[in-house]
Amino acid sequence: MLCYRDITFCPYYMDCEEGNDCPRALKPHIIGKAAEAGLDISAYLDRPECFAAIRKPTSGQPKGDEEWIRKSAK
Ligand SMILES: [Zn+2]
Repeated sequence: MLCYRDITFCPYYMDCEEGNDCPRALKPHIIGKAAEAGLDISAYLDRPECFAAIRKPTSGQPKGDEEWIRKSAK
């Protein structure tokens, strides 16, 4: 079976640190191109080796001690 570009694409790129630059990212335009070419897309069923989870910033915490002191000194 022929697959588009003959590589396996990654549908998890939106959660991946490198997702934007990853050549395997299964972005919408890839799906469009494959459809144009009449080819199937091969996609990972699990996160690939290159997957790097985005380190989400911790929210809901004071930015620094200084700010916290100012707020509590009201
Ligand atoms: Zn990747």
